[in-house]
Amino acid sequence: MVPRNAQTLRYTLEVTPIQSKNYIDGAWAGSAKQFESVNPANTKEVVGTAPSSGKGEVDEAVAAAKSAYQTWRDLTWVKRAEYIDNLAQLLKRDIDEIATLITRECGKPINEGRADAVEALHMAQYMAGLGRMPNGYTVSSEIPAKDAFILRRPKGVIACIAPWNFPSAIPMWVILPSVLAGNTVVFKPAEQTPICGYKLTQLFEEAGFPAGVINLVQGDGESCGDPLVRHKDVAGILFTGSRAVGKYIQQVASGDLYKFVATEMGGKNATIILEDADLDIAVNACILGAFKTSGQRCVSTSRIIIDRKVETAFTERFLEKVTRIRVGDGLDESVFMGPLIEASGLHKWQLHNEKAREEGAEVLVDGKVLTGGAYANGNFVSPFVYRLEYRPNSFCLREEAFSPHVAIIPVSGMEQAVDVYNDTDYGLSMAVITEDYRKWRWVRDHAEYGLGYVNLPSIGAEVHLPFGGVKASGNGHPGAEGILESVTSRIAFTVNHAHEITMAQGLSTIV
Ligand code: NAD
Repeated sequence: MVPRNAQTLRYTLEVTPIQSKNYIDGAWAGSAKQFESVNPANTKEVVGTAPSSGKGEVDEAVAAAKSAYQTWRDLTWVKRAEYIDNLAQLLKRDIDEIATLITRECGKPINEGRADAVEALHMAQYMAGLGRMPNGYTVSSEIPAKDAFILRRPKGVIACIAPWNFPSAIPMWVILPSVLAGNTVVFKPAEQTPICGYKLTQLFEEAGFPAGVINLVQGDGESCGDPLVRHKDVAGILFTGSRAVGKYIQQVASGDLYKFVATEMGGKNATIILEDADLDIAVNACILGAFKTSGQRCVSTSRIIIDRKVETAFTERFLEKVTRIRVGDGLDESVFMGPLIEASGLHKWQLHNEKAREEGAEVLVDGKVLTGGAYANGNFVSPFVYRLEYRPNSFCLREEAFSPHVAIIPVSGMEQAVDVYNDTDYGLSMAVITEDYRKWRWVRDHAEYGLGYVNLPSIGAEVHLPFGGVKASGNGHPGAEGILESVTSRIAFTVNHAHEITMAQGLSTIV
């Protein structure tokens, strides 16, 4: 178990920085050029260093994955699932170590670090079980003597490019279905969380995955991600990250017609509170949705769209709770909100707050950059909450802030709530708080989203459900459960058991 006491944790974690290497063709390799990964709660603490890889390392990793594909694809799904089962056991063994590493490297509080690690474990358990489930099926042919099959085939080398905010769960959502189906992988973690990526790769090695099946290349987007995306031997790209980078990758990959791309991107998510809502549920859903991971989840609630009739009652209770949120180093179990990932995130938060003021916001909780004392070396801010009458084309109501920046938007009735919800290019997560089943059903069918919730926050994935968005949030290939579709081709295969050929649709063989 992770020690509960922050000081004990600090004591146990006074360790030297971890040195990550690349993992290519079953061997660990360093590089003369390195970059540092620092703890966002204390940027003076170097969590580890990792190689700054470029095209050369990417080429080697893709070549290793391409070569390993020839034998990996020929194993049975059951055999490949057994490797994943080995991995699941190692994830379970090291769950507390992984949780602590996540908190140190990406700043989120330790109960969120633990949840991230547990989600990775759940994905491994799910994929290990799926190896024994049907991966194709028989369908009836028009001709009695024919058997027709629909089979799933792997695609080849899959590039898995991950964001920093779920450094163990998201890589597992995409890597494990890929290898289960017989593909091989080149994994590029985010440059903010290379050590989490390194730890996962060490476990793949220990689980006995053959050389070349999983390859790790560390580095930034431009020098390392870009050559990976452009590589001619990459058959598929599974990208999770920002809309700007996702759009760029889709454009680059469209130059190679054979290259499949799944892009899971940002959101401008909302919690809709209807007039009959249970306000206890509404307040807790908004606190969780808006401030978990300091608002740095793709599914974070940054808009609270509320019926005017309950606005005052809700706002009073919500603000009372917001002002009690404890901000600090996530290794302290009592902390609710950790730091922002880096200084650029802090500047983005400030920009969105300024934009809200310019657009006429009434500021209800004026978020501050926290400095001095325990905050001296971290990227800490406190929540920013404002009230704004809806108007179309508003920057702050349409664009992702990815920080603790939340608008309360009063509306009149359910239809207007959904119109306001839909007024953004994004379509990722939507929560509605109501006691009326007719209302949630209407909202369910008229709001645009990939993840919908009733009487819950807009956050909270489970691995056996597809995770993804519509509109600018995703290109229709969700992660977790959904990704198996993306890493396989469905092929039709037909066998004739008769001594003559009988064609479908009455085609004649008479000449
Ligand atoms: P990001 O787009 O900056 O980076 C994501 C990954 O892409 C990193 O590994 C980065 O190195 C790589 N990258 C950057 N430029 C690249 C290029 N030119 N070619 C190839 N790779 C490149 O995103 P981030 O800051 O790590 O994550 C935050 C964003 O991710 C937010 O917008 C958030 O909403 C989104 N996100 C979406 C989901 C989802 O499932 N929809 C989940 C988590 C985060």
